[in-house]
Amino acid sequence: MTGWAILLSALAMTAIVGVRYLVTSGAFAFATRLRHPGLYRGLEPQMRREIGWSLASAAIYGIPAGVVAWGWQAHGWTRIYADVGAFPLWYLPVSLLLYLLLHDTWFYWTHRWMHRPRLFRLAHAVHHASRPPTAWAAMSFHPIEAVTGAIVIPALVFVIPIHVAVLGLVLAIMTIMGVGNHMGWEMFPRALVHGPAGRWLITATHHQAHHAVYRGNYGLYFRFWDRACGTDIGLGRFDPVRRDGERPAAADG
Ligand SMILES: [Zn+2]
Ligand SMILES: [Zn+2]
Repeated sequence: MTGWAILLSALAMTAIVGVRYLVTSGAFAFATRLRHPGLYRGLEPQMRREIGWSLASAAIYGIPAGVVAWGWQAHGWTRIYADVGAFPLWYLPVSLLLYLLLHDTWFYWTHRWMHRPRLFRLAHAVHHASRPPTAWAAMSFHPIEAVTGAIVIPALVFVIPIHVAVLGLVLAIMTIMGVGNHMGWEMFPRALVHGPAGRWLITATHHQAHHAVYRGNYGLYFRFWDRACGTDIGLGRFDPVRRDGERPAAADG
């Protein structure tokens, strides 16, 4: 009985993650057609591979999330709370920031680790096979990489209290930034990307440089770790004509 409940929860969560991916990436791919027609021209075989890897990743993300969701419902596991008065109101934004910072830290170090040659060939090369990435590449990970990404939030909810709505916001930010950072154009205004906030926040223009140069810009949401560790290579640029994967002149750094 319990086994079936866990299995059902894992399957449901896999379906949710898969549909969330298809809807979000689909919407951003559609927006790309409107804003930059032809940007993905000739990339159809690559996009099919991106969708395949991403749906496999959806299962890997869905399983731990489903088990934890079941444990939360059935046994009160985790520190997820539903009563907004359980903690002071100021804790809502603090917990949001805390989750984003910790996820970013985990991502930075595992991502940097996955750029070591052996592990890169074994796992992370799948993500970088998208040259250039499209809106469908957001979850295009080898299963090994997908596991490192899938365990973060399910582990954090056991340690750091979070309101269920804030948790939803964390997942929404994760999804939107994951898709947005790979779609091949910048959705945020120039004033933000090239202004003071852009010095600390990661958007598509920053992650673009990671996909063009490989070495550097390993962060997820914030440039803090890249700056602190000297791996920040600055903002990239989008050149729709050049999709042969040729590295820009600034490649050696
Ligand atoms: Zn990427
Ligand atoms: Zn990488």
